Amino acid sequence: MAELVQRYLDQIRTEHLTNTDGALADYIPELARVDPGALGLSLSLADGYIYESGDCTAEFTIQSVSKPFTYALALDRIGQYAVDAKIGVEPSGEAFNEISVDETTNRPKNPMINAGAIAAVSLIPGVSADDRFAQIHEFYSAFAGRDLSVDHDVYASEKATGSRNRAIAYMLQSFGVLDDDPDEILDVYFRQCSIKVTSTDLARMAATLARGGVEPRSGRRVTSAAVVQRTLSVMVTCGMYDAAGDWVSAVGMPAKSGVGGGITAVLPGQLGIGVYSPLLDAKGNSVRGVEVCRSMSVSLGLHFLSVTRESRSTIRAAYDARPGVRVYELHGDLLFAGAEQVLRTIEGEYDEFDIAILEVSRVDDIDDTARGMLAGMRESLTAAGKQGYLVDPDDTLQVPRVDGAQAIVFSTLDDALRAARQSIPAPQDSDG
Ligand code: GLN
Repeated sequence: MAELVQRYLDQIRTEHLTNTDGALADYIPELARVDPGALGLSLSLADGYIYESGDCTAEFTIQSVSKPFTYALALDRIGQYAVDAKIGVEPSGEAFNEISVDETTNRPKNPMINAGAIAAVSLIPGVSADDRFAQIHEFYSAFAGRDLSVDHDVYASEKATGSRNRAIAYMLQSFGVLDDDPDEILDVYFRQCSIKVTSTDLARMAATLARGGVEPRSGRRVTSAAVVQRTLSVMVTCGMYDAAGDWVSAVGMPAKSGVGGGITAVLPGQLGIGVYSPLLDAKGNSVRGVEVCRSMSVSLGLHFLSVTRESRSTIRAAYDARPGVRVYELHGDLLFAGAEQVLRTIEGEYDEFDIAILEVSRVDDIDDTARGMLAGMRESLTAAGKQGYLVDPDDTLQVPRVDGAQAIVFSTLDDALRAARQSIPAPQDSDG
């Protein structure tokens, strides 16, 4: 099986290998000193299993692929409310290094363009540039699951030539977005852009996002699911600069590109992709990186808005275990729509039972919304003069257990049926 996937990737890589369109970033000499022919394609599954094709050990600077991760760190450290006060979430439709802010709010339009990314650096609480960078470095490394290093030549060069970014930082200071010394913030920003990664690192970082903030190999939580949700949202709308609309239509994955030639793309819940190919298009996106992502999305069916099937019924089976006692077996992931279906079905059948037994041992996952809805269902059952029992061996619904005659949560269906029999004995039961 694994070989089949490997062959898919190799084939996609081969298809694009001969494409030599685009140009190396040359605003600093260091970026133009790479092999223009390099093409690395890495795929990390949600369990951390990695597929690699081509130049997957070649290190390059992360550049703007850093932006979502620093934004995530700011959200993680000071919360969404404080971050939103300084950085918007609207696509700008402008180039990444545009010297601009939102006309009405005076905030950078989003964290994926340089203005927003520089503001994000300033929001990381720290006593010095070193302190801020240490946190950034540690955060990225935790996403990648290894200790990443810095390309000091690229850093020195970025710092020596970064007039445009300096213009942006001073503009932000004048608008009250940057509270600290612009040069100190920029120093951290240049260092973050100079962190070295491989396509496999980018795939791993993407997989940690795909897992809602848990690094797949260590199982370690790097940040919260809420931070990841917000980060992926801005990657969808703003991740590919002014090419965001085209990207979402054609590829359909939250993603981020950088002028080092890297692209990271995330299929939430499923996988992370990292591509490296340093020849860039006019917008600063890797030409073959974009093409490879397009091919992967199409041939592997990865578009996040592809509706492959109607959502599966949550009710696996419903039957009368005995007169007046109806069993509802649920399965799969129980979220809002599934819980709604369960409530509606059971309410529609009130006339047909006295006791409803909800069997949830096959439910894989449940969120707080669905848990609250099912807990609320008990009240409506009681109000209708009915009883509700739960078969929940793994305590998925987290309903407090009581023992004895008051018990409503059971570990097996047999136990629940025994309790139901005591509650409403059938004629033959009372005889014996
Ligand atoms: N260091 C670059 C800059 O700030 C990163 C830009 C990019 O990757 N798009 O200009």
